[in-house]
Amino acid sequence: MKKILIGTHNAGKFKEIAHLISKKYKKISPISLKIKSPKETGKSFVSNSKLKANFFSKYVSYPVVSDDSGLCIQVLNNKPGIYSARLAKKHGSFFKAMEFILKKMKNKKNRKATFVCSLSYKKKDGKIVSVEGRLKGNISSKILGTKGFGYDPIFIPLRKKITFGQMLKSKKIKMDHRYIAFQKLKKKIKI
Ligand code: IMP
Repeated sequence: MKKILIGTHNAGKFKEIAHLISKKYKKISPISLKIKSPKETGKSFVSNSKLKANFFSKYVSYPVVSDDSGLCIQVLNNKPGIYSARLAKKHGSFFKAMEFILKKMKNKKNRKATFVCSLSYKKKDGKIVSVEGRLKGNISSKILGTKGFGYDPIFIPLRKKITFGQMLKSKKIKMDHRYIAFQKLKKKIKI
């Protein structure tokens, strides 16, 4: 069976990405290979997803797919953006980071936000293919729902009335930024 390394330590992301890749592939986690994460020194989603694909591919002889994603909130100068995971670390949890964001946005009328995902696929021959998926939405006024992961409970996708935290996972994974990026990737490579 063909193998592919999904370069993430985030369980939520791993599940979503694994679901999007063909059943023909055995999906390998860096955790099972005891590989740590690289430092995310890039200044953009794409530079970080490439950096991760390059890093993880040093350890395996099969293809690697890595993502870098985050939540960009218009009124907060598109923050936390590439710092989404780091904001949660700084505050101790995603719940606390969401509370921090909602406090900052109290009384703000503009609640526009975009979930962004850059996916980089590194082939065995060393070539990298990168794509980006974006999903627009709004920040809710409260933390709503317990499904999903990360900032899901404060993100309401455009034309929906509930947060990703309230949405069935089966629905979320067929419309989110990672799904959109994957559709683009599938046009470029067989995966
Ligand atoms: P990184 O790509 O490992 O730097 O982490 C991106 C961070 O963005 C995650 O830890 C989550 O906090 C957030 N994030 C990315 N995608 C999603 C999503 O689909 N739902 C909720 N949060 C997400």
